[in-house]
Amino acid sequence: MSRADRVAKRLEERGVDLLLVAHGPNLRYLTGFTGSNGMAVVGRDVRRFLTDFRYVEQAAEEVGDFDREQGPQDFITALEGGWPEGELTLGFEDDHLSVRAHQRLRSVLPDRISLEGAGGVVEAERAVKEPGEVERIAAAAALCDEVYDWVREQGLVGRTEREVKVALEHQMRLCGALDPSFPSIVASGPRGALPHASAGDAVIERGTLVTLDLGVRLDGYCSDCTRTWATGELPDDLADIYALTLQAQLAALDAVRPGPRGDEVDAVARDMIAEAGHGEHFGHGLGHGVGIEVHEGPRLARTAKQPLVAGNVVTVEPGVYLPGRGGVRIEDLVVVTDDGRDVLTHTTKDLVVVD
Ligand code: ZN
Ligand code: ZN
Repeated sequence: MSRADRVAKRLEERGVDLLLVAHGPNLRYLTGFTGSNGMAVVGRDVRRFLTDFRYVEQAAEEVGDFDREQGPQDFITALEGGWPEGELTLGFEDDHLSVRAHQRLRSVLPDRISLEGAGGVVEAERAVKEPGEVERIAAAAALCDEVYDWVREQGLVGRTEREVKVALEHQMRLCGALDPSFPSIVASGPRGALPHASAGDAVIERGTLVTLDLGVRLDGYCSDCTRTWATGELPDDLADIYALTLQAQLAALDAVRPGPRGDEVDAVARDMIAEAGHGEHFGHGLGHGVGIEVHEGPRLARTAKQPLVAGNVVTVEPGVYLPGRGGVRIEDLVVVTDDGRDVLTHTTKDLVVVD
């Protein structure tokens, strides 16, 4: 079954006849289109793709199995016609479509077509990767490993966080990445206690922790990896939270397999960190899905009730953050397999000391 066939099947289960897909990552997944302006309509026996004149040639190369149409620049007007007979329900991505676009859509559609919020249908399909997608994510993860090796050789002490960030993002691109999958984090000393600190002008000092969180986009797929390194001998409290975070990360990785829900895997790491007295120092979810987007389904978090299935690709990234002191986060990418998991990140998790 093609991706569009699987989405059409999900629509039937939801009682929706057709789905209008305009959100870039969903459109790309469904049709292969990588341009910035396009829409697809999918449903039983309907495979319609619209774009404007700038992308007609590109769409001809990328979008197979769909009836391609060239609309006007404001191509929503093309949706006035071209519909199957009778009363129809058209689902739309209510988690992405703006209120204005929705009003506009309503004004061009024939009255016999009713609109219904149907977000998350393509995302649910995207959360279960095909083997070819896992290969691409693994390649993106391997490129992260390479960048970490390179950063280690360059050293950290005496450079600013921003300098390191700019250099490693340049290196990613030299290694073949299209771009970073999110703005890289380089957070040293007390700034390491802010989980999403952006790299600033602070100079990285000796004898502390440095958290590096980076990912690349390669061949349409993302990776995401965090390592925390020491810049010399550590004070006991920082050495302790490193050992604890690593222990929790390894235990949670071991819990990844088909069956457990996202909240159950999250609890494995969370309980271990809480038992060590650091419950309030781990304030974010354990992980998230990665694919065409760096944050997608499924999630590993206290509120995640979906069971994991083979083909899910998730991060496992517990952290312990001591305000004013420093923080540790360790993040691997892992794919759920039929009988367990394959960890896609290979760079070492033994405490690395970098000068
Ligand atoms: Zn990350
Ligand atoms: Zn992440």
